[in-house]
Amino acid sequence: MAKRDYYEVLGVAKNASDDEIKKAYRKLAIKYHPDKNPDDKAAEEKFKEAAEAYEVLSNAEKKQRYDQFGHAGMSGAAGGGGYGGGGMNMDDIFSQFGDIFGGAFGFGGGGGGNGGGRRVNRGSNLRVKVKLNLNEIAHGVEKKIKVNKQVACGTCKGSGAKNNNYDTCKICNGSGVQTRVQQTILGAMRTQTTCSSCHGEGKIIKEKCGTCHGDGVVRGEEVISVNIPAGVAEGMQLSMNGKGNAAPRGGINGDLLILVEEEEHPELKRDGNNLIYHSFISFPEAALGTQVEIPTIDGKVKIKIDPGTPSGKILRLKGKGIPDINSYGKGDLLVDVNIHVPTNLSAEEKKMMEQLQDSKNFKPNPNKKEKSFFDRMKEYFE
Ligand SMILES: [Zn+2]
Ligand SMILES: [Zn+2]
Repeated sequence: MAKRDYYEVLGVAKNASDDEIKKAYRKLAIKYHPDKNPDDKAAEEKFKEAAEAYEVLSNAEKKQRYDQFGHAGMSGAAGGGGYGGGGMNMDDIFSQFGDIFGGAFGFGGGGGGNGGGRRVNRGSNLRVKVKLNLNEIAHGVEKKIKVNKQVACGTCKGSGAKNNNYDTCKICNGSGVQTRVQQTILGAMRTQTTCSSCHGEGKIIKEKCGTCHGDGVVRGEEVISVNIPAGVAEGMQLSMNGKGNAAPRGGINGDLLILVEEEEHPELKRDGNNLIYHSFISFPEAALGTQVEIPTIDGKVKIKIDPGTPSGKILRLKGKGIPDINSYGKGDLLVDVNIHVPTNLSAEEKKMMEQLQDSKNFKPNPNKKEKSFFDRMKEYFE
């Protein structure tokens, strides 16, 4: 199912301020909150959809990526385990609420199920570079990247506790929060603060795991398969949710950020979604017409050069460029025609040239306006 535009989900304009985005989300979060809509699947979906939109639009880095690439920039990978897969889980959503409601009144888990404000550890994001050639950029590619990162400890399965031996925190009874009920404009709301005893984790390790010393994570390696969409460019960044560093003691993994580097093509230059090829033909070929072979992303093609083609002419091969990252069509391949001027003429050639030189036909005609380099550049950019 196609995802709705995040701005549309929150009902804000593209240029909405952080404050407007926050306000819009707060309104939707209250309206569709599971506590207010028990057993209402549609409301739950709306609740999740709004949380996902807010998660992206409230984060400057993610917002920029979304503005640039749309949803393609957010999932970046098949089964990335993130938003592409089917939205955020309730734990993620409730863990955002501290920011939204200023900590004044977090909602309890209630209908949402998963233990309200329990603090969820988060792994840090990882940044890797991936080098792509023009062919990979034009068609999109699946890349396998070996990443050195924090992974869940195999000995304790990420819990940090030896033999999985830990006590439920007695102060908060495992909820990770200390709760009070308070009267607010929205009715009775529970006020929550992070449990000071377990720092919000809800449990206390009895004996630390010997392998990870209680962290729940160790250094490891993972080969991650990344689907790079067609049309990316140097400096663009894709993200794969949950593929970054594992979180201490079983939390939410960080994201993997993939920075695109572009390899230079030996013959084709890239200009946005267009490609440029400089072709050289001889003077007789320009005058008499010819066929030349042009490299493209998908192999060589032959193109016709008409008799009388002037130097600097730009031929446009429609749709032979790079596809737009947001699927707004494809760029073109622009072939600029340059005329090779020979040096080291033989005596015989020199004589023939001198004859041509005297022909009136070969002299530039001052009465006929010829296109200058600037005229052609202007045409190209229009
Ligand atoms: Zn506690
Ligand atoms: Zn361990």
